[in-house]
Amino acid sequence: MDKIIKSISKNGHFRAFALDSTLTVREAQERHQTWPTSTVALGRTLIAAQVLGANEKGDTKITVKVLGDGAMGPIIAVADSKGHVKGYVKNRELDYKKASTGEVLVAPFVGNGFLVVVKDMGLKQPYSGQVDLITGEIGEDLAWYFLSSEQTPSSVGVNVLLNEDSDTVKIAGGFMLQALPDATDEEITEIEHNIKSMPSIATMLTSDEPLKTMLDNIYGDMEYKNLGEFPLAFKCDCSKERFLEGIKSLGREPIEEMIAEDHGAEIICQFCENKYEYSEEELKALIN
Ligand SMILES: [Zn+2]
Repeated sequence: MDKIIKSISKNGHFRAFALDSTLTVREAQERHQTWPTSTVALGRTLIAAQVLGANEKGDTKITVKVLGDGAMGPIIAVADSKGHVKGYVKNRELDYKKASTGEVLVAPFVGNGFLVVVKDMGLKQPYSGQVDLITGEIGEDLAWYFLSSEQTPSSVGVNVLLNEDSDTVKIAGGFMLQALPDATDEEITEIEHNIKSMPSIATMLTSDEPLKTMLDNIYGDMEYKNLGEFPLAFKCDCSKERFLEGIKSLGREPIEEMIAEDHGAEIICQFCENKYEYSEEELKALIN
C-alpha cells in the first residue's frame, strides 16, 4: 500500500513528508491509459496534491491545477486530507522519451503558465492561490507556491519512474521539506546542502526503504522524529447518484432531448474514467 511518513526535526525547526505513491500513479496510468510523458506529468501532479492534502485536516479538499500553455494542456488533481487523490491530464497521449539521465522530460510539454491551488474547507468561499510556473517540472513549482503564497520556505521533489520495456509505472513518490519559523540561517544552509547533495529521487525511491532513505538524506546529521505513517491511494468520489444530480440540474429541456435522441444517457467521469449509464426511465423520473 502507498503511504506517507510525516516527520519533524527534534528541535522543531523543520518538518518533512516522504511519500510512496507508486500504486496511486499506477492506477491513474491504467485508468486514463496515459502515454509516458503524460503519465509522469499527471503522476507528479497527483503526488503534489497528496503533499498538500497531507497538510490539511478534516473535510478540506485541495485542488491542484497545472495550467501551462504547452502540448500537455491542463493537469488537474484533487486530494483530501485522508490521502485520497483523483486527477486527469488533458493530453494523455504525449510520448517524448527521456533525457540522457533516463528521466522523462515534462517541463517542455507543460510550458509557461500557472500553478493554482484551491482549498475548499466547506465554507462559502474556497481559498485560492496562484503562482507562475517557474520550471514546469511540478516539484519546484509547488515549492515556489509554498514560499510565495504561504510564506513557508520549502523544498519539494516529486517523480515517477517508468519501466523501460512497458512504460508502466515502476515507482513514484517524493518529499516535502519545510523550514518552520524557529529555523536559523545556519540550519537552513545545512538542510539546503543536504538536499543539493542527496541522491536523485529516482535513486532513493528504488532503495530498500525509500521513505526512510529520503528522510535520512534530508535531515542529514539533524535528528528527527517519525510522526506516523498514513495510507495514500487513488480514489474518486464519483457515483451514479452524484452524476444523476448533475443531469437533473441541467433542467427539463436537455433531459427531454436525451430521452428523445439517445433514449438514455452515458457519463464518463473525467477523473477516474468510470462509466455510468442512465435508462430512459431514470431520466423520465427526473423531470416528472
Ligand atoms: Zn470518478
